Amino acid sequence: MAVDSHLSSPLDPPACDKDSKALLFIEEMTRETGAVQERVLGEILFRNAETEYLRRFQLNGATDRDTFKSKVPVVTYEDLQPDIQRIANGDRSSIFSAHPISEFLTSSGTSAGERKLMPTIHEELDRRQLLYSLLMPVMNLYVSGLDKGKGLYFLFVKAETKTRGGLLARPVLTSYYKSEHFKTRPYDPYNVYTSPNEAILCADSFQSMYTQMLCGLLMREEVLRVGAVFASGLLRAIRFLQLHWQQLAHDISAGALNPKITDPALRDCMSKIIVKPNPELSKFITQECSGENWEGIIPRIWPNTKYLDVIVTGAMAQYIPTLEYYGGGLPLSCTMYASSECYFGLNLKPMSNPSEVSYTIMPNMCYCEFLPHEPDAPAVSRDSPPPLVDLADVEVGKQYELIITTYAGLCRYRVGDILQVTDFYNSAPQFRFIRRKNVLLSIDSDKTDEAELQKAVDNASALLQEFNTSVIEYTSYADAKSIPGHYVIYWELLVKELANPPTHEVLNLCCLAMEESLNSVYRQSRVADNSIGPLEIRVVKNGTFEELMDYAISRGASINQYKVPRCVNSSPIVELLDSRVTSVHFSPAPPQWNPEQRRCWPHA
Ligand code: AMP
Repeated sequence: MAVDSHLSSPLDPPACDKDSKALLFIEEMTRETGAVQERVLGEILFRNAETEYLRRFQLNGATDRDTFKSKVPVVTYEDLQPDIQRIANGDRSSIFSAHPISEFLTSSGTSAGERKLMPTIHEELDRRQLLYSLLMPVMNLYVSGLDKGKGLYFLFVKAETKTRGGLLARPVLTSYYKSEHFKTRPYDPYNVYTSPNEAILCADSFQSMYTQMLCGLLMREEVLRVGAVFASGLLRAIRFLQLHWQQLAHDISAGALNPKITDPALRDCMSKIIVKPNPELSKFITQECSGENWEGIIPRIWPNTKYLDVIVTGAMAQYIPTLEYYGGGLPLSCTMYASSECYFGLNLKPMSNPSEVSYTIMPNMCYCEFLPHEPDAPAVSRDSPPPLVDLADVEVGKQYELIITTYAGLCRYRVGDILQVTDFYNSAPQFRFIRRKNVLLSIDSDKTDEAELQKAVDNASALLQEFNTSVIEYTSYADAKSIPGHYVIYWELLVKELANPPTHEVLNLCCLAMEESLNSVYRQSRVADNSIGPLEIRVVKNGTFEELMDYAISRGASINQYKVPRCVNSSPIVELLDSRVTSVHFSPAPPQWNPEQRRCWPHA
């Protein structure tokens, strides 16, 4: 493996020209961070000068930073929602952007239980593609020979729908994979995937996963990297292999495709890939997958894998031990930091250890400002927030909340991510992703906050009234050890009539009632993606939460300020809770989730 720590090392000849152009671009952008940011803001304000939003703040055509900062407020999604609703309802006037809104991107962040709708413009696809085009040139500095084989990437499209005004609403990756930018991408020896477009674009998640896995198995010797967008996606693929290897091995030995693959375009394309029986490969897969021991299964099946390409920063860090187990210690590479609102930047040291990953925000993507964030300080008052800091002016060691102004028309928008500056590359700061604000529980792309959890507990505990029982304390835990992971909620109950405690069945129904109350991303992950398992309630002995408090106080917490943590993740606390469990309950059925419901988006 060729490893070099700077971006100017000699490149492998076949990619040299293209790669050096990309690396030069990174150098130019990061050397001129302040100037590029000023230009980006100027361009955005100039082109959007006549939009309703900017006119509202009387910018009067000003494109300079000072005027912008003094007149335009910092906002959240909820502040913009009335205008977003107008666009969704069909208002085509220039509200946020002089360019027409091409579609809505549905964020995994939610508002009032539904995915946030981010208006976007066609041109943003070019910016996303530009960021993607920088990833392999950087990777080629650290890992050589990636043009000698293929990438096994599990990539999926998700359900899409239309708003009342007829605009498409879908996740950003679905939009990207369905774009011509992706579908008709030119051949690049460093970016050859085992999955054909037909498999990635098949909306049926079983057929898509099955054929992507089958291709990966058929081309196992050629695979040089294995990945998915997030760690949870790769683990889902491993779980799929555990459940379906027999059928996959059968197809390989018969040289024929499983009849459950019914999508005609996919069948047609697969008929050119699975052309003849390969009993030897089938035997090998059976031998590897039939055993109990799945440790190191990825390099056992794909022996030439050099690294796993998955995001394991932020909420995904919980999957690192499981990925290390299946990956047999293969390096984990986090390459980029992006969102529905905008793609932000990339990791210039993609082979660094997950705990050391920092992302360099590319100054050309959007205009970024940073709200200083002091982890233990009281919440910032909306009336007198501290001044925002520009990208080039952030300080190493400090934490900030990211605030963006985009070409698509978001102005001073709070993304909700907390980042910490670790270093600078040229004049561009590098950030460690600390966390998403207000997220308590996350398994896949779901993000459950404290208020949602509280509401879910309230709704579920209503079922206990007929047993004269109430939930006196609760906390939660995202159990990522099983695949798929699931939410665990610890309940301490006050049973007032000891002769009439809540039944096992009712407590199971409480699990389901909680799931029904959680946001639509959670329910979609449960129902359509199967990426979250049934919610579990663990009832603990009376007095357990007092013990929890005693434990916290013994570790230095102040007795006056102690509050029950609504989510726990330290092992001694989870162990303490688990040792007091008196009964365990699971949701008996999936909650309601219906993509059609979103037709009437946004909720009036
Ligand atoms: P979405 O709006 O659904 O596209 O989700 C975007 C969010 O995912 C970001 O705002 C982050 O909170 C999170 N995210 C994206 N990339 C990363 C990353 N590399 N590491 C950690 N979290 C990330």
